[in-house]
Amino acid sequence: MVWNEKAECMSREEKEKLQIKLLKEAIEKAYNNVPFYKKRFDEAGVGPEDLQSLEDIEKFPFTTKADLRETYPFGMFAVPEDEIVEIHSTSGTTGKPTVSGYTKKDLDIWAEVTARAIDMAGGTKKDRIQNCYGYGLFTGGLGIHHGGYKLGATVIPISAGNTKRQIEIMKDFQSTILTCTPSYALYLAESIEKEGISIEELGLKSGIFGAEMWTEEMRDELENRLGITAVNIYGLTELMGPGVANECMVKKGLHIADDHFYPEIIDSKTKETLPEGEKGELVLTTLTREGMPVIRFRTKDITSLNYDKCDCGRTTVRMSRITGRTDDMLKVRGVIVFPSQIERAILKIEGLTPNYQIIVTRPEYLDEIEVQVEATPSLFSDEMKEMEAIERKIANKIHKEIGLRVNVSLVESESLPRSEGKAVRVIDKRNFD
Ligand code: ZN
Repeated sequence: MVWNEKAECMSREEKEKLQIKLLKEAIEKAYNNVPFYKKRFDEAGVGPEDLQSLEDIEKFPFTTKADLRETYPFGMFAVPEDEIVEIHSTSGTTGKPTVSGYTKKDLDIWAEVTARAIDMAGGTKKDRIQNCYGYGLFTGGLGIHHGGYKLGATVIPISAGNTKRQIEIMKDFQSTILTCTPSYALYLAESIEKEGISIEELGLKSGIFGAEMWTEEMRDELENRLGITAVNIYGLTELMGPGVANECMVKKGLHIADDHFYPEIIDSKTKETLPEGEKGELVLTTLTREGMPVIRFRTKDITSLNYDKCDCGRTTVRMSRITGRTDDMLKVRGVIVFPSQIERAILKIEGLTPNYQIIVTRPEYLDEIEVQVEATPSLFSDEMKEMEAIERKIANKIHKEIGLRVNVSLVESESLPRSEGKAVRVIDKRNFD
């Protein structure tokens, strides 16, 4: 099933024609209504008349998270305040929060793209969506909520937390679709098993997981333990929220709603646009956003784009699973390491849970990585010698993946912290001052 066949299955020629028309409007709107963009474009010596083809977008300056912070809270809005009907914001844990304002039309578009996302996960109006993304200023909860409502499904707005109640509702209401972070889905799976509930007693069929980085190995784990099809959702508050892109059941990349968001891939160092198919930093421009148009936003997410028609029938461009953020990237002894590489290595070994933490220290002059991994109870009760053999095996797998020697310690099941939102995977104790 395709939710919006016209938008999701149009030919590339048609799509590009639509995109150039919308892009012109977006650039004009930004230039004429947001003083930040007028100043930025004037400084760069470009104006709306310089955009005649899609490639011309490369002449325009980027927008960064720092820009959005500087204009906090409402400096990026392009409409009078009485037209803004909803506001969302990032948590601001790593600095000043960034704010996103929506008009009625923006909310309708948000509902449209999240409805497409739920449809891609096999959702229909008959489904019951247990929405465990947090409700509030975070876009996860309400974004999925708007989409579920538009699709005509039943949304269970349970929000994050209270795991016991989540499981009770899941069983009693026979929820069919679960939406949360992958790490919380894993915690739910563990808790369900601990309560002695079999997945047959539940009605789950799919899961829409996002808001943090995860791997194919984690997908297998979640699909097996919850008896579902697990798909990946992508979004960011600065652009809109969840629904910017979502995986279909083919699970070969996330379909970007490219009639609303225009993607580019750049080399994050040289800032040059990269040829089709190459891996680099994703840059997104809103095509239809009224309340807050965003031009060439640097997402810091690393991916590549595939313009081939998907086996599901959709022609919207697909982005590959995010393998890391330039933000999460660790530089250890001069080597670039992503937490996803370590997760992949860990999950190749049987008897390990995908609960792990990476601790980076610099005891003297050299960086050291310690990886703590939870073992299953049966594995943990084994002999010391055997434990050490497993630790060595994990260290070897990680070495193969990242090219560095790490110290591995197996820890007792359930000893690492659990999160109801985004998991904390990396603790960097190095002092860079
Ligand atoms: Zn597809």
